[in-house]
Amino acid sequence: MSEITLGILGGGQLGSMLSIAAKKLNIKTTIYCDDQDAPAQKFCDEFICAKYNDKDEINNFANKVNIITYEFENIPFKTLNELSKLKTVSPKPSVNRLIQHRLAEKDFVNKLNIRTTRYVHVQNKEELSTLDDFFPGILKTTTMGYDGKGQYLIKDVNQIENFNIDFSKEYILEKLVKLKKEISVIITRFDNNRYEIYEPIENIHEDQILRYSQIPADISQKLFNQSKDWAIIIAEELKYVGTLCVEFFVDRNDNLYVNEIAPRVHNSGHLTINAYNISQFENHIRAVCSLEQVSLKKLSNAKMTNLIGNQIIYYRENPILNDNQFFFDYLKKEIKEKRKMGHITTLK
Ligand code: ADP
Ligand code: MG
Repeated sequence: MSEITLGILGGGQLGSMLSIAAKKLNIKTTIYCDDQDAPAQKFCDEFICAKYNDKDEINNFANKVNIITYEFENIPFKTLNELSKLKTVSPKPSVNRLIQHRLAEKDFVNKLNIRTTRYVHVQNKEELSTLDDFFPGILKTTTMGYDGKGQYLIKDVNQIENFNIDFSKEYILEKLVKLKKEISVIITRFDNNRYEIYEPIENIHEDQILRYSQIPADISQKLFNQSKDWAIIIAEELKYVGTLCVEFFVDRNDNLYVNEIAPRVHNSGHLTINAYNISQFENHIRAVCSLEQVSLKKLSNAKMTNLIGNQIIYYRENPILNDNQFFFDYLKKEIKEKRKMGHITTLK
């Protein structure tokens, strides 16, 4: 019987699924989250609700656990750094700091000779109005964005006035890629050249929010290999420990671009729960807790559908599923527009 208690910062659905995976491995979980309605409290062994900058509560949390990880990236660097003086934090705080800043993240990827979209740092309106070459483009806050939040799609330079852009924040402007499709690769790294990698997943977004993920991705063998190779290079270069997701764009000429890196388990990997012998969540726990590495085996093709906002209601009221369907309700207290409420995975 293991005596490990894993501390998890963040209490959303990813925290719930990590707690479920931990339980299977006899690992206890303590979740720390600033939201008193955090859904993961229903799945963990202990729940601490406090602000991420509450020094006393953070200390208290560190004292209760053996190892610390996190399920979302927007945690203050100072908090992760303080925690890492007390207990091992995986992935390392420095990795999170790099990835949570879109500019630093893209600079890092480019230095590895891996293609990203064209991008430029924007600090004020005057700068933005001189950047003709980058339109049509997407203006994104450098930090704290998710599910398309903090983003402006701007067709041309004359349109800037139509948007009420808050320039107290910093941005990057990215040239719009003519997308053929989006894919992601999830990799769990244990140690130097020791990793388990899932096959590329095809992702379909609606309103910049992930709606469907499926395997196999409908891509060429070349892209299949290249996306996996790039994910391995990124994970190795970061000396990453745990599960990481690389999101990619494929353009109409079949060029591959890294869009962004998520230093955590990822929505597109929910289908790994049912389609593989070991899910991305279990692999994350195995890696950060230094448990045995088990070879991945794909069991089935699969399609995952996110249930966003009101879409959950139908499935809550009609829980009639086929043998090959798996419904997950995140048990969030309130239904909100654009909020991920649950998902369904269908094995094929
Ligand atoms: P988030 O952190 O919100 O996930 P992303 O940078 O991944 O932000 O953007 C969300 C989605 O918006 C992407 O998955 C893609 O569909 C679209 N998008 C973002 N940047 C670009 C771009 N440069 N070209 C084309 N589509 C983009
Ligand atoms: Mg994204």
